[in-house]
Order: sequence, then C-alpha cells, then structure tokens
Amino acid sequence: MLYQRSSQLFIDAEKVIPGGVNSPVRAFKGVGGTPIFVKKAQGAYLYDEDGNKLIDYINSWGPMILGHAYPPVIDAITERAKSGTSFGMPTELETQIAQLAVSMVPNIDKIRFVNSGTEACMSAIRLARGFTNKNKIIKFAGCYHGHSDSFLIQAGSGASTFGTPNSPGVTPGTAQDTLLANYNDLESVRNLFEANKNQIAALIVEPVAGNMGCVPPLGGFLEGLRELCTENEALLIFDEVMTGFRLAKGGVQELYNIKADIVCFGKVIGGGLPVGAFAARNEIMNYLAPVGPVYQAGTLSGNPLAMAAGLAMLQEINTNTQLFDNLDKKTAYLEAGIHKVLTQNGVVYTINRVGSMISVHFDAQPVVDFQTAKNGDNETFKKFFHGLLKEGVYIAPSAYETWFITDALTYEDLDFTISAIDKVSKAF
Ligand SMILES: *Cc1c(COP(=O)(O)O)cnc(C)c1O
Repeated sequence: MLYQRSSQLFIDAEKVIPGGVNSPVRAFKGVGGTPIFVKKAQGAYLYDEDGNKLIDYINSWGPMILGHAYPPVIDAITERAKSGTSFGMPTELETQIAQLAVSMVPNIDKIRFVNSGTEACMSAIRLARGFTNKNKIIKFAGCYHGHSDSFLIQAGSGASTFGTPNSPGVTPGTAQDTLLANYNDLESVRNLFEANKNQIAALIVEPVAGNMGCVPPLGGFLEGLRELCTENEALLIFDEVMTGFRLAKGGVQELYNIKADIVCFGKVIGGGLPVGAFAARNEIMNYLAPVGPVYQAGTLSGNPLAMAAGLAMLQEINTNTQLFDNLDKKTAYLEAGIHKVLTQNGVVYTINRVGSMISVHFDAQPVVDFQTAKNGDNETFKKFFHGLLKEGVYIAPSAYETWFITDALTYEDLDFTISAIDKVSKAF
C-alpha cells in the first residue's frame, strides 16, 4: 500500500499543528512512520487519502460501535443541523437523551452533559470533592481519565506517598492531592486509605481498564474497591468513558453488578460527536450548580447536533437486543482465531478480552496492571502493527491501546484479519 499523499499531508500539517496532530497518539510515535490521513469511513472500513481501504479496529477509539457513518446517526445529525447548530439555551433533546441514559444505566438519577471524557472526569472529581468536603483522590497507574491536571500524575517514591506530575505544567501542589495505586491490587488501595485517613474524597477507576491494553478487573477487585470506599466515606467513581454503552447497556455497573457513586461517560454516548457526561444519584448531582454549590458549565454543553447523534446512537443500542451478544461472539471468534495462529507460529503472547474490548500483548505473563502491561515486547508490536497495516488491517498505533470491535465487522472481515495476523506473525 502506498502512503504518498498521507505523508505529504503530514508534512503540511506539522508546519501548523504541533506534531501534525490534535491528539498525540495519532502521530505514530509508538510505532514509527507517519500517520495515515483519512478521507472517509463507512461501516467497518476506513478509506485513506491514498485510496487504500483498511479494516478499522479503532473505530474512533470506541464511539463507532455500530460502524462508521451509521445511517440513523447521520440522519439525526443532518436533520437537526437544518434547525440551527447551537443556541446556548435548553432544548427538549437534552431531556430526551438524559431520560434514555438514566433509564439504561443503573444507580443514576441525573446526568450532566459536557463536551469530552476529559471534562466528564475532571468535573466528577470536583463534584466528589465538593460533596465530601475532602481533597485527595486515588487513581490507578495505567488508568487514563483524560488530560486534566489531577490525572497527569505518576507514582512518587514509596507506595503511600503522594504522586508527582508526569507532565510539565502540572504543579506539585495539584500532584500531591492525587494518590497512585496499582490496578488489581486491593492492598495498595487499603494502604493509601490508611495513610490518608479522612482525606480521600474519591477513588476513580476504569472498571475494565482499556488504556494499558485491555485489563479486566480480577475477581473481587471491584467489590473490594466498593467496600473500601464505603468504609472510608469516599465516593467510588467509575470512569466508563470507554466501557459505558459498550460492554453492556448499563456499562460495567450492570456487567459485574457493582454500584458506583458517580459514573463518567464519553465516546459511545456521543455517537461520534464530542460528548462526555457524568451521572450520579440525586443526592450527589444536586450538589452541582445551579442547584448546589459546585460550579460546572459549558457554552457548547448539550449541543443539539451532539445530542441528536448521541440520542440516535443510544436508541439503537437500547433497542437492538442482540447487539452485545453479537459483539461478544464476534470478538470471541477473533480471539480464538488469533490464539490459533499465534500459537502455531510460536509467538510469545497474552490476549486480554472483555466483550468487544480486546488486546494482544507480546509477553507470556498475564497482564493485570501497568507494570505487567509494560513488559510487552514493543519491537514485536511495531512489526505487528506495520505488518497488519500492509495487509489492510488498522489497529491502534500503540501497544497500550485496546482494539474496539464494531458490529459492522462481518465474519469475513474477521477471517481476513486472522489470516493477516497469521501471515504477519510468521515473519516476526
Ligand atoms: C478516552 C478516555 C477519556 C478521555 O476522553 P476524551 O474524550 O478523550 O477527553 C477518559 N477516560 C477514559 C477511560 C477514556 O478511555
């Protein structure tokens, strides 16, 4: 496949956009080479600027769970645009999508819409701090909650000390209020609660982690977090920006039957437009302005185009009773096929999967947290990525990303992908 035009477009972009991209992972730094510029997408396929057709396993990092340019979503956006694109005033559409979301997701009474997953998580933390009147939060190494200051934190020295910034521009003052625990390690969480008695407002977690590859919670982990939060009067925040409306209608709360106090959404909830949301029971949501004292706002929040896209998407998910079953079957089929060919070809690997989230790690040990995710062989991953790309299969350009399976994929696409993986891994 040729990438002449993409390469030229990237050179042009680099002159006026830092690194040529508006979000770093798109730049191919993790795998080398230059990014592919997309011309259009339809169903399970991307069509790039050089005329190549690629099977897409990123799907805009999750939102296109029903495939690209899904007709009901496109129709809703097009229809709505004719009546104006932003008012900064309430619309009935906002109530409709809120009603639907509240009916689909357990344990929430009210929901507030924002413009990204970052905003949702950032606002959820402020709300939790305002509600509990405490300052510190716990997050897990390797979990991503957007790029707001409180989350760009790495572990400091010693497990029970406070975090340190992992980006210039984040102040030590902010970093000291974020404590780092290890995923799937309840002891690390218990230690933080003990060392910071009555100071922890909330614990935020990806209940199925998807930003260090896919890392499922081990049995008892989420239950343990629930208990520790309740015991310590801290709020449990499920960041379901990736998992919400993807792993089940009601997300991970429904899938594993665990009650979170605040839930964050993004990705699927916007149907491919910029939307995030956070939700909780009345007692907590009523702490938000204009009812309560915690301030949060947005000129474009609840934007009619975005709400129309999100509503059309959620309606499809709500009424398609086979969707999650179909997604699970397709992803299981892919998983079994990858197992078969990688084993035959003598590759050292681990596959993690929950529903339609799956990741291949080039290491023999189970991947259960950030440390074990980092053990994967990145040189092999690079060969894997570029090899698949040559075959017309596009996976995320980083070893730390989950693949997002879309319902638009056919079994022929999956067979094609498995054959491509066979071919590529023979040449490792
Ligand atoms: C993508 C993601 C975010 C950030 O969402 P943006 O819309 O990119 O700001 C937050 N949390 C999780 C779990 C995510 O996967």
